[in-house]
Amino acid sequence: MNKDEIIEILNNPNDKAIYSKANQIRKKYVGDKVHLRALIEFSNICKCNCHYCGLRCQNNEIERYKMSPEEIINQAKYAKNLGYKTIVLQSGENDNYSSDELIKIIKNIKSLDVALTLSIGEKSFDEYKEFKKAGADRYLLRIETTDKNLYKILHPKASFENRLRCLEDLKKLDYEVGSGSLIGLANQTIESIADDILFFIENDFDMIGIGPFIPHQNTPLKNAPMGDFYLALCAMAIVRINMKDINIPATTAMETIKKQGRLIALQAGANVIMPNLTPNKYQKKYEIYPNKANKNDRKEIEQNLLSINRLIANDFGNRKNK
Ligand code: SAH
Repeated sequence: MNKDEIIEILNNPNDKAIYSKANQIRKKYVGDKVHLRALIEFSNICKCNCHYCGLRCQNNEIERYKMSPEEIINQAKYAKNLGYKTIVLQSGENDNYSSDELIKIIKNIKSLDVALTLSIGEKSFDEYKEFKKAGADRYLLRIETTDKNLYKILHPKASFENRLRCLEDLKKLDYEVGSGSLIGLANQTIESIADDILFFIENDFDMIGIGPFIPHQNTPLKNAPMGDFYLALCAMAIVRINMKDINIPATTAMETIKKQGRLIALQAGANVIMPNLTPNKYQKKYEIYPNKANKNDRKEIEQNLLSINRLIANDFGNRKNK
């Protein structure tokens, strides 16, 4: 699709035709199996100050935590024993783990015979290279928005150019690379969402996660309106139609702002769910936005999937053409 076509569809997010088209393409290219990725949020310590995020360094209201390497590895084992084939390690951006510690964690988790995804923010080429060599398979780094002015306002401690550099490095190093964006940020235009989608297509990312912005009370955007569920869903459906074989999660943010949001997304192009496997005592503290949906029970997910004629996949769920 060209930009004009994308804009036209984004201007009509209540037109259901786009969702059934995305659903058909999902079925044809990636099938009916849904990949579950066990998300372990291992530290909420963050040096960034992103305007939308509850983990921003200037939020003094949350208690910061850092799981030990042993705790992280044990939690990955627990997830593996429950049947998860992919472990996703996510954290705020911090230097509280040395490269050696991270490498040890990666190697131990890889010895469990699982796929491993990292989502730990902006690092150097050499660090990404070391993590890859240690066994990490995939990396998630959303561009958040491709609108450079908006990016600058929202990320006072970061640079758009460095985020791009990171995504390029990850591709060069042959990670499966996931990116994505936030929908409904204050001052974000439909045109800029169309540019985000074109950016994803141009870069041929292996995974794209799109979620509505949800205001957090301890951030500068506390009074900003919440992102629209259907606008986020629509952007996701357009991504599926243009990037047929990639992995697309039904994001937790979608489930958070809409009842059954995950199931709706799975019928509009998504083929992945990322259940939260963070230990209970830490889950509440990883509050990137409030009231994060916590429907993470595997049996319950399986039941829900059955109700829409879908099954849990039992392979690693790499991008099909990789
Ligand atoms: N530090 C890592 C992980 C960030 S948290 C990194 O920089 O990649 C994962 C995602 O949560 C972010 O990429 C962002 O898109 C999303 N997020 C953060 N705050 C949010 C909010 N208020 N509403 C919805 N999504 C949010």
